[in-house]
Amino acid sequence: MEAIVKIKNLKVIYNLGKLNEYSALKDINLEIYPGEYVTFFGPSGCGKSTLLYTIAGLEFPTSGEVIVNQQNPSQLKNKELVNFHRYTVGMVFQAYYLIPQLNILNNVLMPRIFSGDEIEKRTQKANELMNRFGIIDLAKRRPSQLSGGQQQRVAIARALVNDPLILLADEPVGNLDSKNSEIVLKLIDDIHRTEKKTIIHVSHNPKDLEFSDRIFYMKDGQIEKIVENKRRITNPDINSESDSLSKAYPYLDKNEIGAKLILNQIISDYSIETQQRMEKEITRFIKGEINKNKLIQLFDNSQENGGFDLYKQTAKKMADLVDNLTKNLDIEEKETEQENTLQKRVNKIKSYLCEKYNLNLNFEQVERLEEMLTERFNFKLSEIRFNQKIIKNWKDGGLGINKRTVNKICREIKLVMFNKKFKENEN
Ligand code: ADP
Ligand code: MG
Repeated sequence: MEAIVKIKNLKVIYNLGKLNEYSALKDINLEIYPGEYVTFFGPSGCGKSTLLYTIAGLEFPTSGEVIVNQQNPSQLKNKELVNFHRYTVGMVFQAYYLIPQLNILNNVLMPRIFSGDEIEKRTQKANELMNRFGIIDLAKRRPSQLSGGQQQRVAIARALVNDPLILLADEPVGNLDSKNSEIVLKLIDDIHRTEKKTIIHVSHNPKDLEFSDRIFYMKDGQIEKIVENKRRITNPDINSESDSLSKAYPYLDKNEIGAKLILNQIISDYSIETQQRMEKEITRFIKGEINKNKLIQLFDNSQENGGFDLYKQTAKKMADLVDNLTKNLDIEEKETEQENTLQKRVNKIKSYLCEKYNLNLNFEQVERLEEMLTERFNFKLSEIRFNQKIIKNWKDGGLGINKRTVNKICREIKLVMFNKKFKENEN
């Protein structure tokens, strides 16, 4: 099959020849096939949007070649480029970019107004899409009256109203909460499946990767690696963290997932780059390729020497924690607990938490905590939901515990949940 997007030796340099010259894309070579769903993934500033925009014909190569559906967008004449934007690519942005003065229907119709179709035919297509995306009842409203998730659905309908071959989406869920992100990503997935459209998606968030067929990992203006998502999820039903991690990173082996789990628990303040490097070292440690002393040394060493520049004390503590977690790591653990074992666990952790954090709960409150813990241990409550629930006031179904304490409690629970030793001890 011939590629629908072919990129050869692409370089994009901003402000060429000026003092602030910046090489955003260094030497990109890639091919994307018709009907594929790919994601450009990497930290902020690595060149994802620039790459997407060169495919869209919104940014032009400094050198190299971009061919999209046998056309070279940088060489198209004005009118051809207009048609390219109409029928070859449809764009969706993080910030929606709807026109505030137009109602929703007219926003969706916008790209079609110039296509010469009769009004009836145009409106029919727009209605079809709005119906499918659950926004038909909002047709008469203005963008400002819609939630972010709804606005993004409008923007996707607009991008599709001319039925382009390729949908380009730059961080389409970057502004949305997790519920709306899921709605929008599923919708894009649905378009991919039912219409067999090529999807080129950009994200910096590993949570957004699950629907991609291939993931292009980018760093510093280059593609670091391309990974096929072999276990592409058809019905995401994420229960536990290790589950959700193994779904977001289906190509990682057990050790690498383990490293991510550990990493999630010990660091979030470090930059993405540092986290990625740490993850590599922790994976090596889990695999037994380096020992604990070497890990301490790495945490302690300066950046120039390939280390992480932590204080000696911190380095030691981190290595201890990693060591501890690794010993207890049991990421295969997914099965629902036997009821009485679960009850014992809940009791134990409940007493422990009450004591450690001076929770001073009355009888009813303790009962509620037990319920929540049981749900959490049964993987019926994700960490985030548990966190949100326990923070709420008593009358809203929560325990009104302050955020800092709740965060600590959540971390403890997670440690226990993935701690094999804990379970063995209690039997
Ligand atoms: P990403 O989408 O991965 O966050 P971008 O493609 O937006 O990255 O940007 C890559 C790099 O190029 C960044 O360092 C950014 O500051 C720089 N850059 C992007 N657009 C321009 C521009 N129009 N002029 C100068 N520099 C730019
Ligand atoms: Mg970007």
